[in-house]
Amino acid sequence: MNILLSAYTELASENNAVRLLVATDCACCAKSLRDSLSTELGIGPVCRKHYGFNDLPNKPDWDAGVCITANYGPDIDTSTWHDARVACNTLVKLFSCDVVGRKWVPEAVYALGYTKLAEKLAQRGGRVEIKRSEDGSHFIVRAPTPGKFVTVVPGMTWDKRARRLICPLDAFDILWAAVKLTYPGLLLVTEKGITPIPTS
Ligand SMILES: [Zn+2]
Repeated sequence: MNILLSAYTELASENNAVRLLVATDCACCAKSLRDSLSTELGIGPVCRKHYGFNDLPNKPDWDAGVCITANYGPDIDTSTWHDARVACNTLVKLFSCDVVGRKWVPEAVYALGYTKLAEKLAQRGGRVEIKRSEDGSHFIVRAPTPGKFVTVVPGMTWDKRARRLICPLDAFDILWAAVKLTYPGLLLVTEKGITPIPTS
């Protein structure tokens, strides 16, 4: 038995509510899950490998992960968690079973040190991503219905091939105001983490 599965089994014996949930779709890509381990975990084998689900977390902020979970999911018993991997397993399962109701999960998974996984989960739940380009010359923005959004910010262009928006650095204030107006409540992904976009 690998570390992942043993961690999950340990969790499952303590947490009936999560164990009894049946996941049918992958938390990351929404494809149907085909084997029993995947339905137990709520994520398929390809996405587990690709998004670092099997890896150790990178610099987990344990308190933040627990705090976010306690805040949004008071029904979740975090007292049985003893490390970031177990916590991440629970959260991914819950997210795969209810993407809309648990849309805050990527924020907690990010805090727990599973950055790549969290960003993929945020994409599934609907997210706006704002990051600096590699050379630092502009912002790269990813958002739902970008075709509509592109007209809101002066100087912003739609890179059709890469499916992303290119925004000048000096337009950040307008960009941020437009994001708050257009996508309140959605998750915002930046280099610093994942946070909900303010609703007012
Ligand atoms: Zn998948």
